[in-house]
Amino acid sequence: MKIAWFCIPAHGHTNPTLGIVKEMTKAGHEVFYFSFEQFREKIEATGAVFISCDGYDIDIEDKDAADRVGKDMAFATKMLVRSTLALDDMVAEKVNEIKPDLIVSDSVAHWGKLIAMKHGIPYVSSTTTFAFNQYSSRYMNQGIGQLFKMLFSMPAINRELNKLREKGYPVKNILEIVSNDNNTNTIVYTSKEFQPCSETFSDKYCFIGPSIRPVESEMKKTAEKTIYISMGTVVKNREIYDNCIKALGNTDYQVIISLGDNRITEENIPGNIEIYDYVDQMAVLSVADVFLTHCGMNSTSEALYYEVPLVMFPQTPEQGAVAKRVEETGAGVMLTSTKEKDLLSAFETVFSDTSYRKNAQKISQGFKKCGGAKEAREYLEKVYSSEHSGK
Ligand code: UDP
Repeated sequence: MKIAWFCIPAHGHTNPTLGIVKEMTKAGHEVFYFSFEQFREKIEATGAVFISCDGYDIDIEDKDAADRVGKDMAFATKMLVRSTLALDDMVAEKVNEIKPDLIVSDSVAHWGKLIAMKHGIPYVSSTTTFAFNQYSSRYMNQGIGQLFKMLFSMPAINRELNKLREKGYPVKNILEIVSNDNNTNTIVYTSKEFQPCSETFSDKYCFIGPSIRPVESEMKKTAEKTIYISMGTVVKNREIYDNCIKALGNTDYQVIISLGDNRITEENIPGNIEIYDYVDQMAVLSVADVFLTHCGMNSTSEALYYEVPLVMFPQTPEQGAVAKRVEETGAGVMLTSTKEKDLLSAFETVFSDTSYRKNAQKISQGFKKCGGAKEAREYLEKVYSSEHSGK
């Protein structure tokens, strides 16, 4: 079969898909992956044909825009309409040339879903966060205010959607574009046990488990307890790093910090603290006893896979949902503030109560039972057969 695959320019959304794409091409299927130059090499290494979406008017890489998209539905609609129309001619031409049997698109690369609607091609959602429906979205804490705001911005939203309709996109409303329902074929990169409210999703949802990279370099364990600290690749928060250095310097703990794009103020770094811009996170997690994290979906899954309990400091509603789920499963504690005493007490809580590690182990076992890329391939083949039977 031929698949057109769409993704946004983000590592966290691209990486989990690569194993499946490789598995598909190995089985003789053709994958045409619409993405961005930055990801060309990784994508071509899977055996897929890379199709570049660079040079079109897509602002999704802009951090402020990304923040606003999460909070303002009228703005989000404007952005998704603009990106879809910017890509429209190029994608339509390619789709007519390739004639894909299936479109797989990241749940926030809305242009993929819209192209599937426009060309009448069966669609599968690739969801790298939790799957959200009316039940699980309660984990996001966004409240009723947002719903009201959305009702008031309906005229503006509709004006935007008309631009799509004029170009042949048969859209009914905005919810149909930004959310999936129980009729949407969906691949989710977590286990059924870890997904909140998983019993409310239909069997069209395929929970394949997280995709975990292999350890590539060695990380030395130099103390009985090793603390790993990283707020991921996007979050900016100098204070938490500075305070961790103050709170944990000259203790018996080994402390490994990955700064990402953050810079620290502290100049005299105590000997028990190792600071890096970027680490082999799998290598670090394989020796860590606790992980202070922003609860990005990838970092969280990786840590739990390695049975590492968490101290959590989420920064977005989606990270909040992940943190809430971890707290519920007993595999981590929420950080109440970045004050030195609160940091220390959070780490001590996790070390003194072995239930945190045991609960992380339970989630890890669930992850290890998942079918991964192979299950995703079989699922896509099944969707293909059922969608194309009788044609
Ligand atoms: N990562 C890494 N080394 C680092 C920091 C991050 O390999 O020093 C990887 C991490 O393993 C994860 C990804 O970057 O796969 C971060 O994704 P996540 O969803 O946790 O957070 P984001 O950066 O998207 O906020």
